[in-house]
Amino acid sequence: MTSLCGACASTLLTTTIPHQSSLFSRSKQQPLQRLIRGGAIRANSNLAVSAADDQQLKKGIAEFYDESSGIWENIWGEHMHHGFYDPDAVVQISDHRSAQIRMIDQALAFASVSEEASKKPRSIVDVGCGIGGSARYLSRKYGAECCGITLSPVQAARAQALATAQGLANKVSFQVADALNQPFPDGKFDLVWSMESGEHMPDKLKFVSELARVAAPGATIIIVTWCHRDLSATEISLRPEEKGLLDKICDGFYLPAWCSTADYIKLLESLSLKDIKSADWSDNVAPFWPAVIRSALTWDGLTSLLQSGWKTIRGALVMPLMIEGFQKGVIKFSIITCRKPE
Ligand code: SAH
Repeated sequence: MTSLCGACASTLLTTTIPHQSSLFSRSKQQPLQRLIRGGAIRANSNLAVSAADDQQLKKGIAEFYDESSGIWENIWGEHMHHGFYDPDAVVQISDHRSAQIRMIDQALAFASVSEEASKKPRSIVDVGCGIGGSARYLSRKYGAECCGITLSPVQAARAQALATAQGLANKVSFQVADALNQPFPDGKFDLVWSMESGEHMPDKLKFVSELARVAAPGATIIIVTWCHRDLSATEISLRPEEKGLLDKICDGFYLPAWCSTADYIKLLESLSLKDIKSADWSDNVAPFWPAVIRSALTWDGLTSLLQSGWKTIRGALVMPLMIEGFQKGVIKFSIITCRKPE
């Protein structure tokens, strides 16, 4: 494993989220709710929230996933992302795992990632890796080495245990690290993968800059993420009721302010990345949240939820708002891909 990931392996599972005692006291004066709705794109300094606020958010994310990942895995398995479905398909419970795998394959196809021996990815980073479902799948698919990072120590440990159990310990490794300050050298990876982690990033410019930094020349970058709808030419922000809906989701899922797909594209353009493409897959994910809610309302779902803890329960309570957000067109499920120039 040490040959696998350099710095990654030496700190494997040993990095922990520092205890932010000053932040605990700060949080008493400044509710997390306000912190996590702070500005997302720091190119605009008016939107800046302080480094201490970012630490507070990171701590909340880590604790949220530490607490909730086990119950998710028990009910839904190793992939902590939406499935990709044919629009209007009637979906059986058993279809969801294959829909989650399909999401990964659709994203790879959208970005034209080659499966040819000479061109396929050999070194991959999974940024915001959850319990490593994508990392292991990608490693197996391409025979590639893959490093996953997450804020949650519980997730990193579970991801590594699953890799060992699946015979992949010499190919994939996981560690606790911040996507906004990745522990990797410049140009290390030929596929940079972020599946549903971008929505947690309080500084989207720093986020995409780090994705671009660790990408090798010619590497593909894939971001699949929750966005708010693009604004029209005459709008300067979402409507108050739309913001109100997203704020409630932010509180439940530990998200900072949202941005649009168009915002992401502008950021990628500002970094001179090439072949920038995006698509709205909101219709393709529509069956997902109703299915998650149905599974939470089973006996197993309810009992595990009640045993899990307040952060998980609070997350579950905002799940219907995701459906509302998609139905009202405020939330978009976006894929944005690009390539680092050679
Ligand atoms: N991509 C995974 C998990 C998605 S859940 C999957 O598809 O299964 C969101 C993940 O983003 C969690 O693992 C969380 O720890 C991670 N995350 C959120 N903010 C992060 C940050 N700043 N740095 C690293 N990981 C982060």
